[in-house]
Parts: sequence; structure tokens; C-alpha cells
Amino acid sequence: MQRIPLIDYVGRPLLACVFLALLWLQWRFPLRRQHFSVLHRLVRNFVLSIPGFAVVRFAMLPIPIAAAMWARDSHIGLLNWLALPGWAAGIATFLLMDYAYWWWHWANHMVPLFWRFHNVHHTDLDLDVSTAARFHFGEMIFSVGFLSVAVMIFGIGPMMLLVFFITFEAATLFHHSNWRLPIKLERILNLIIVTPRMHGIHHSIVQRETNSNWGTKDAVTIGVAAYREEHELTLGKLFALPFRGQRPWRLPNGEIPERELHPAEKLAE
Ligand SMILES: [Zn+2]
Repeated sequence: MQRIPLIDYVGRPLLACVFLALLWLQWRFPLRRQHFSVLHRLVRNFVLSIPGFAVVRFAMLPIPIAAAMWARDSHIGLLNWLALPGWAAGIATFLLMDYAYWWWHWANHMVPLFWRFHNVHHTDLDLDVSTAARFHFGEMIFSVGFLSVAVMIFGIGPMMLLVFFITFEAATLFHHSNWRLPIKLERILNLIIVTPRMHGIHHSIVQRETNSNWGTKDAVTIGVAAYREEHELTLGKLFALPFRGQRPWRLPNGEIPERELHPAEKLAE
């Protein structure tokens, strides 16, 4: 295996520490009430993520890195044309890649084929730091194409790509965690990054909320409406989920979940 020192010796140990720190913080200062055993979900999400981790390490990183080197050597892509000073190229990398990922996430919700795989991530019935690892490996395989194209269009440097990737993964761990931050602090952080309360809305069983990201409610019901039975979300069934018929966004009793209205909003309606 070809080593990627920045990932193997810096990124992975760093992310493992962030994971453990968040695990402790969400246990000490929980945000949403959890419904299922933390240990059980930890094991399930971890095992589910193993093939995904392999795809990331052997394809989703090496292929875009090779694409970035090729683009640099062939003088292709926005940042390679602009020849900005290092610090400006660093900032531009974060802005451009963040923007690209926003569209990629959007596509994962809007393109039916992609949603089949991203659905696995959203079927988690509780949301915590382990959800950040719960991705079907199929989604990672599609990501290889997305990342390679983005890197070549924007002319992202190979090192910059790795630094962005490590930061992006740390941010993903953070906003999936169930850590209750002081609301004032969270409002400020919300201006620049995605926070746990904000991302909780995105994992709501109310579809309108899943397809958006805004609001700061604590009392969301986490999950995908049609997949709410624990026994239907075992490892084997989760791996097979993208290849099965997809259920419409309805609860098992046929109802379409709606947002719980705040009493003041009820009056206004
Ligand atoms: Zn999503």
C-alpha cells in the first residue's frame, strides 16, 4: 500500500482523538434524548463503515490526489491558472471545496440513485458522533468521481486537498455529534460552520426539514419516515438497502410526518 503520510500519521490519529473527545462531550453534555443503546449503535455504525473506510483510503483519497497532481503538472484548473500566494490558495481551496461539497450533498438528496445510498446514513434512529461514520460504501465510490472532477476544475493542490479533507472529516464528526453547546455560542458558530443542532434538523423525519438545514430546534425526531423499525435496520439490511425498492416518505401507518408546531405558531396559522 502506498503511504499517504499526512493521512496515515497525522490525519487518522488526529481524527481518532476528535472522535473520542466528542464521544465524551456528548455523553457529558447531551443535546437530544437518545432512544437506543449507544454501544449498540456505535458497533453497528462502525462495522457498517469498514468497507467505506477502505474505499476512502484506497480510492477516494489516492485517485483525487493523482488527479490533483496531474492537473498541477498539466497546468489545468482555476487555482493552477491564478497562481495565488500560498495563503490565498489555502483559503480559496476551503471555499471552493466547501461549495462543491454543498452541491454534492444536495445531489445526494435530489438524485434518486444517489439518495438510495445516502438514505443509509439518514436511517439512523438517533444522531450522534458515530452517525458520522455511517455511510454506505457505494456513496464513497460515487464520491471518488465527484472529488476527482472538483479537484481538476478548481486546480486544487494535492497537499491542500489533504488538509481540506482532514478538516472536513473533523467538521463532519462535530456536527453529527450529540453535544449540547451553549445556544449563544452555537448561534455564533452557525454563522461560519454547521453545528450539531443545525444538522439535527437535516436528519429530521419531516422531509421538508431534511431537505433544508435551518432552524435550531432540539426536539426533532431523527430518521427517515419509512424506515423506523429497528429490526429493519440491521447490518445486512442496511448494506442491501440501496438495491431494494425505495419506500415513499411516509410513516408505517401511512401518515406523512409534519413538524410539531410551537403554540405561538399554531395561533398564527
Ligand atoms: Zn444528508
